[in-house]
Amino acid sequence: MRLELKDIKGGVLEQDYVCSAEDFPDLVAVAEEGGPVYDGPIRFFLRLQRSGQIVEVDGRFEASLLMQCGHCLQPFQRALAESFSLTFTPCEGREQELEEEVELEALELDMIPYHDEVLELRHPLQDQLVMTIPISPLCSETCKGLCPECGADLNQKQCGCTKKPFNSKFSVLAGIKLKE
Ligand SMILES: [Zn+2]
Ligand SMILES: [Zn+2]
Repeated sequence: MRLELKDIKGGVLEQDYVCSAEDFPDLVAVAEEGGPVYDGPIRFFLRLQRSGQIVEVDGRFEASLLMQCGHCLQPFQRALAESFSLTFTPCEGREQELEEEVELEALELDMIPYHDEVLELRHPLQDQLVMTIPISPLCSETCKGLCPECGADLNQKQCGCTKKPFNSKFSVLAGIKLKE
């Protein structure tokens, strides 16, 4: 997943990659911690446009993410199609110190520094995949979650637990009324 500047002939290059989660160490780490898993192929569609030494990338990826719902704890799968853009900027200097300075400046401007006319894509592409992982995944906007009393999945059935405290409250009120 690296391209040389000279590969971008005529200023534009369309490049696709088919990868899997194993190609990205951060995704492997998330999966090992029990987090969401990119399941199956991850397809990247990139269009690189070079103007001078600056390279703009219009990218898109398609993948499927296997997650566990934070409410009902059921596993579920979601197809993703995400767009992104990246900007690569060279950071060549005669002195190491200057090069580091340019690199920091580039990062501050949200640009990706590159060296020796080689664009390293793995890390920035990995960032896109990691950023897309939801912090608290939900199987659906309307997920009812689990019953706090008996643990039943309320999407599947109505256990009736939640009605009990409601009813007893009313019977207490009814009792008071009777005494009057
Ligand atoms: Zn759910
Ligand atoms: Zn219940």
